Amino acid sequence: LSGKLNGVFDRLRRRGALTEADVAEASREVRLALLEADVALPVVKDIVAKVRERAVGAEVIKSVSPAQQVIKIVNDCLVEALGGGEGVEHVPGISLAAAAPVAILMIGLQGSGKTTTSGKIALRLRTRDKKKVLLASLDVHRPAAQLQLETLARQAGVTSLPIVAGQSPLQIAARAMEVARGELYDVVILDTAGRLSIDEALMDEVAAVKAATRPHESLLVVDAMTGQDAVQTARAFNERVGVTGIVMTRVDGDARGGAALSMRAVTGAPIKLLGAGEKLEALEDFHPDRIAGRILGMGDIVSLVEKAAETIDRAEAEKMAAKMQKGQFDLEDYAGQLKQIGKMGSLSGILGMLPGIGKMKAQIENANLDNTLLKRQAAIIGSMTPKERRNPDILKASRKKRIAAGAGATVQDVNRLLKQFDDMSAMMKRMSKLGQKGMMRGGLG
Ligand code: GDP
Ligand code: MG
Repeated sequence: LSGKLNGVFDRLRRRGALTEADVAEASREVRLALLEADVALPVVKDIVAKVRERAVGAEVIKSVSPAQQVIKIVNDCLVEALGGGEGVEHVPGISLAAAAPVAILMIGLQGSGKTTTSGKIALRLRTRDKKKVLLASLDVHRPAAQLQLETLARQAGVTSLPIVAGQSPLQIAARAMEVARGELYDVVILDTAGRLSIDEALMDEVAAVKAATRPHESLLVVDAMTGQDAVQTARAFNERVGVTGIVMTRVDGDARGGAALSMRAVTGAPIKLLGAGEKLEALEDFHPDRIAGRILGMGDIVSLVEKAAETIDRAEAEKMAAKMQKGQFDLEDYAGQLKQIGKMGSLSGILGMLPGIGKMKAQIENANLDNTLLKRQAAIIGSMTPKERRNPDILKASRKKRIAAGAGATVQDVNRLLKQFDDMSAMMKRMSKLGQKGMMRGGLG
């Protein structure tokens, strides 16, 4: 019996914040999922540590289990580790921001998809970016390699460098750059030879070509299906040659994509493109959230928690509505509103959750509440005392001056805020009347 009671007390206590135990339990699950998705062990450890740091003490969301909530935090950490996340502008694709002809060096192991990807990139640059593209094969080791690229170039509608027998990769690269300069190409894609595994001769050859051509992008092409081995490949190429971006191929297979996370962690280079098939059109931009979802394989839980987090906002909105109806809305609440608005992106978003508000939407949207203004207002309220926030009426000239100075604003800004607060209180009183009518008709729907 006492064990049972303890359990109850534990649960009671745990409402409020995620505990070490919650997080430890969920971490085990997460660790397994990541390893199953082929994420390299050291990377798994890093992610789990970051999750732990962020999750312990995080506010508990009602109606989801702590484990589910941790999984959502894991998802966010994965997205960030892959170069995405809130406030981060993820720019997919390759960069051509250099003087023409811009050289792109394709590197990677044999069979990873370098030649195919060269053709795919050429097609995309020609059709989408309207670039004049030259393809050159530096693969003198496999007899058919140069012909393979020539065929792909024809399919992509771009030119390939004429094949000259007996030239070394360095000589071919030099000739490609010379032709590109002379014939005003925008982009030269240099497709190098691979080996079945990393060896010194390959690295030397690629490094020499890179030194001679100074490519703007050095794209490492890696097969997603190689899983754990992708880490060694990425590390070796990055250390010996230097990598500016990664292309992960064969994402049309059933690999979970953990290699992307490992390679990004090891090289720091962004994943730029995905190969999703043998056809030249099968080239995709990389989206961190999509791959994170695929790695974790728990998309249902992530969206469940996202919905639950919205519900918190809804509960808060309803609490606010009750306060408004009692005429208790003060500057403290207004500051809380500003925070919510910032989080949800718009005032109408949060007020839309209140019952009976639909008709007011247009009016709200016209209320001229832009984001910088909201931030400044939050700062002004922040430099008030709690007493002032509860009784804005006591704000006379000297207090206003002090508050303005504290927030790095002017007295006019303070006045503007107070006017806005008055307007909003008035608007809310009207809305809460509407809301009450709505509630009488159809309840809190
Ligand atoms: P390279 O040795 O690195 O130049 O590799 P290739 O470009 O010659 O590709 C090796 C094989 O993989 C070829 O049969 C390609 O058609 C195939 N391939 C390349 N990229 C992809 C991809 O994204 N998905 C699939 N399914 N096959 C691919
Ligand atoms: Mg090739």
